Parts: sequence; structure tokens; C-alpha cells
Amino acid sequence: MTKEEVLKKYFGYSEFREGQAPLIDSILSGKDTFGIIPTSGGKSLCYQIPALLFPGITLVISPLISLMRDQVIALNEAGVHAAYLNSSLTQGQYYKALENMKQGQYKIVYVAPERLLTDSFLQAASQVEISMVSVDEAHCISQWGQDFRPSYLKVIEFIAYLPTRPVVSAFTATATKQVREDVIALLRLKDPTILITGFDRENLKFSVLHPKDRYQVTADYVKEHREECGIIYCLTRKLVEEVAEKLQQEGISVTRYHAGLSDGERRQNQDAFIYDQKQVMVATNAFGMGIDKSNVRYVIHYNMPKNIESYYQEAGRAGRDGLNSECILLYGGQDVVTNQFFIDRQQEAEAEMEPQQVAAVKESERERLRKMTFYCFTNDCLREYILNYFGEKAPNYCGNCSNCLTQFEDVDITEIARKLIGCVETSHQRYGIVMIVDTVHGSTNAKIQRCRMDENPYYGTLGEVPIHRLRQIMNYLTLKGYLLLTNDEYPILKLSPQSRQLVSQEEPLMMKVAKEREKTEAKKEKKGRKAKITAASLEEADEELFEGLRALRTEIAKAEKVPPYIVFSDKTLIQMCTLKPKTREEMLEVSGVGEAKYQKYGDRFLEVLLGF
Ligand code: ADP
Ligand code: MG
Repeated sequence: MTKEEVLKKYFGYSEFREGQAPLIDSILSGKDTFGIIPTSGGKSLCYQIPALLFPGITLVISPLISLMRDQVIALNEAGVHAAYLNSSLTQGQYYKALENMKQGQYKIVYVAPERLLTDSFLQAASQVEISMVSVDEAHCISQWGQDFRPSYLKVIEFIAYLPTRPVVSAFTATATKQVREDVIALLRLKDPTILITGFDRENLKFSVLHPKDRYQVTADYVKEHREECGIIYCLTRKLVEEVAEKLQQEGISVTRYHAGLSDGERRQNQDAFIYDQKQVMVATNAFGMGIDKSNVRYVIHYNMPKNIESYYQEAGRAGRDGLNSECILLYGGQDVVTNQFFIDRQQEAEAEMEPQQVAAVKESERERLRKMTFYCFTNDCLREYILNYFGEKAPNYCGNCSNCLTQFEDVDITEIARKLIGCVETSHQRYGIVMIVDTVHGSTNAKIQRCRMDENPYYGTLGEVPIHRLRQIMNYLTLKGYLLLTNDEYPILKLSPQSRQLVSQEEPLMMKVAKEREKTEAKKEKKGRKAKITAASLEEADEELFEGLRALRTEIAKAEKVPPYIVFSDKTLIQMCTLKPKTREEMLEVSGVGEAKYQKYGDRFLEVLLGF
């Protein structure tokens, strides 16, 4: 079989996505291979397809039990024999699976890294032909990545044990240079093919809001999208509890997830979300790695996360199926402080690091937090900002983010900027943003009085400008280099050559500011947009058909005890509605309908389609 035939037969897709074909070819030619593809880009197929074409077994190293379980269920549904070996199995099940593996019953075996060097596994592995070892979420091997797992280092030792060295492949969505280099060095990849695909996710709409009442904005959104699944990320467990409980009281179908819950409850809640029993998941960042649920229509960040890597990975869990989805970040000033606090406190790995190393890691984390904060204040295209962050060039207009969709006007901020700079200078460059803004605004709080900032010549000179606007301008000035922020725990404002220049220059300093619009106008537009999202995918008459197909899918999922999206994704159902296949051949043309799935369910879906 060719790789195209495997793609069609098992997975039901006709075309490869960006990067998949060259990565698969490289692996099949026997070369070590490293693929960097954004979340939901389709990394799994890059190792699963070669695994089906190689003579021996492919071992997939994966960090999470839930991730393995999900993938193995999906593979078995697609007619591929696969299994996983991790601590969720009883001893009996584990030895049974090992025995099956030795007898050649599986093409793909998922293994937890902790298992690799156990006697039983080493013994079994040395008795079978292993064609490939594939390391998923490979950034876990790097202490510079976000999810460092020391047990990932066992992979190299394990490979050294094998009688013949298999092909080694690695995949991740995190692309910073440092992590990339670590993966290659620590996994000892031999002259690897390295492929980084574009990071853009066109179907995601990005927005940043600075709401007065985050809860209200969240609740309104969730209620307006009652039929859709979404994730709400909060920075702390406490907030997760609060938000989940309030939504629950308002009658929303909601569940929650954070590290403070018992294993059992975590799994139960995760399943409720994955199996479409609960529509909304409120969670900390502990939730999500390896969540392949394809129909998440929105991800709301109730707080600003700690860096762009985390943000893009979490937000990227929306719209895996390629349908339009929204990623909304709700910014609040307190978020910066909370993240600072996490940076200063956290670091479990700290014990194993030199003090110098600890300091370097913290500094780089503060820098990443700063870039995250800038994201919340830029008025330029948000997509461009993210892509640039990952080192990719992008046009300055995407037409699908809150900045591109907002009408801005250029406002002259020269005078305000000069006063802010003047205040920094006359207070001897000793204070941070909050103090300076409070001073020029004329606040009377205790801190101002203690530092005698009420005696500063600029005190109260900008009393008529709202605080939020002053902060916005301050952020703009630091973003553009008119003021500098030190990289300390409490960043201090410093003058730059540009600030001195601004004080004397002739031409005005302009800043893009969102036009104030009538509330009703904005609301109307919002309604219109929402209608468009559904209409774009389906005609009205077909919506009924879609509901019919969806009901059948739920019924099958229940009977088979698998998540509905593993039977067929929303995208596949939508294609059935538009293409209206009438025969087996036509049905197999639908993206996502492979042979195994057709055999299992095809006729029942055809029945619904024909009856319509
Ligand atoms: P990643 O591991 O990169 O985050 P996955 O491998 O989980 O992403 O794939 C995300 C989704 O994309 C899955 O639902 C998968 O079935 C789908 N997918 C992958 N490759 C293709 C393809 N060539 N055509 C259509 N859908 C695909
Ligand atoms: Mg994956």
C-alpha cells in the first residue's frame, strides 16, 4: 500500500495536510525525523501511517495516560490494532498486552516513558522487531520546555538496549529554538530531517478583551453558544471552582478540572466533557494535553496565561476539526501579578539546578510573560503577533482577529506621553507603571503619600484621562521603546534615548485606539456574525439532517462506549449533509469515512441520509 492508500483506507482522508507527506516520506526512507507542527495540525498521522507500512512494531512514547487511551480507542475504531502500556492497566492486563505484543498482534503500542526500562518491558521489546520509536510531545524532554518530564530521558537509554536501532521520530507543537536543539541533542537524533510547518490556524478567530466584569462576559458568551462545546481556562484552582459553580447555578452544563481534585474525579469530569455529556469545561492549565476532542468551538482564557507558548497551545484546542472557532482572552491587570508570583515561587526542577541556572530560567520566564502582556495591548493584528513570536513572517492584516475587526482611529498622544516621561524622570526612574499612572492621574492612595509623589510636578496633570487609557498608553510606550521596563520582579520604568527625543521632537506621536461605538451597533454586528458561522457550514434545511445524524452518532457512541467525535467528527457529519452520499462509494468520498468505519456504521448513516 502507498501512504495515500493508508490515509484513505484507515482514516478516510483524501489529502495530506501541510508537512505530513514529507515527514512520512522521511520516516519511511529510514531517516530520523523531527516534526514541529502546531496543536491540531495532525502530528499523530505522521507516525501512525509509517507505523502501518513498516514491517515491525512502532512504539509511541507519550506523556499522558488519557492521551494514550484516546489515541488507542481512535485507532481501533479505524481498524488498526493498537494498545497501550501504562499504570492504568492491572498487572493481568499489562502482561496480557505484553504477550499480545510479542505475538505480533499490534502494529502500534503506546508506552509511558517510566515503563521503558522495566525488566518485563525490556525483555518483551528485545524479542520483537521494532521498526520505529516515536516520541510524541517531544518538548517534554527539555527542561526549557513547559512540561519537563525527566522520565523522557529514559528513551535514549532504552533505544541503546535494543539489538538494532530503530528509526527514531519526534513530534511537538512547541517551537522555540532552545527546545528544538534540546530534543535533537537529548534524543540523539542522527542527521534528522527537521520540518517546521506554518503555525497559522486559519479557522481560529483571536480576540483580546479588557472587560470590567469578566464573569459577565464569560457567562454571556457561554449562554449565546449553548449548543457548542467550549473550554474556559482560569489561572487558579479557586477561580475554576468559582466560575464553574456560578455557571452551574445559571443552568449551564458545566464541569471542572484542576490538580486539586482526586484522580477519579478528574477522569470522570474529563470524560463527561469528551463524551459530550457536559458542554463546558472550566479548568486550570492542568487540563488539556492530549485532549483530541475535535468539536471544541471556543476557548476562553479567563486570565492571561504565562506565555505565548501556553496560550497558543491552549487556545489551539479549539477547532481541531478545521471548522471556525473562537479564542478569547480576557485580560485583567491582576493577571500579571499572579503570573509573576507563579514564576517566583514555582520551579520544581529548581532543586536540581545551579542558582545561576535558576536565575536564568526566571529571567527568561519574565521576558516571556512580558511578551504575553504585550499581546494583550497591541492594536495590531493578533495573528501576526503570535506568528512573529514563533519566528514566522505574517501579513499585518488577517481579517479574523479582534484587532483586524475593530475600527481604529489614530490619536495624538504626544502631550500625554511627554507628561508620563516627565513624571518618570522627575521621580528619578525609581518606580513602576502603577505608581507613575497613579501619580499623573492624581490618586490619593497611601503609597502615593508615603513616597510623596503628590509633590511631584506632574501630580494630577492628567486627571481627566481615564486610568485604563493611561495604562494603555504606558504599555504602548514600553512596546515601542519610548520607555523601558527593567526585568525585575517588580519592573521599574527607565528612560531611553527615544524618550529624550520625544520630549523635543516636532512630529506628533500617534497611537491606534479603538473607536468608541454605540453599544447597540456592536451588539447587532455580533448577532450577525454568529448567524454567519452556522450558515457558512450549513443550509437551514440541512440543519435538521445534521441533527438526525448527530442523534445517530450519540446512540452509537453510547453503545460502543467511545466519545462521539471518535465515531465521526462534526466536520464529517457536516460533509455528509452537503454531499448527501447515497451509495457506499459516495460515502467513502466523505472526509473522515474510512473503510473500517464504513463497515461498522456506514449503512446506518446512509439510512438516515436516504430517509431524509
Ligand atoms: P496534533 O497531534 O498535531 O495536535 P492530531 O494528530 O490530534 O493533531 O490531529 C488533529 C485532527 O486533525 C484529528 O481529528 C485528525 O483526525 C485530523 N487530521 C489529521 N490529518 C488529517 C488530514 N490529512 N485530513 C483531514 N483531517 C486530518
Ligand atoms: Mg498530538
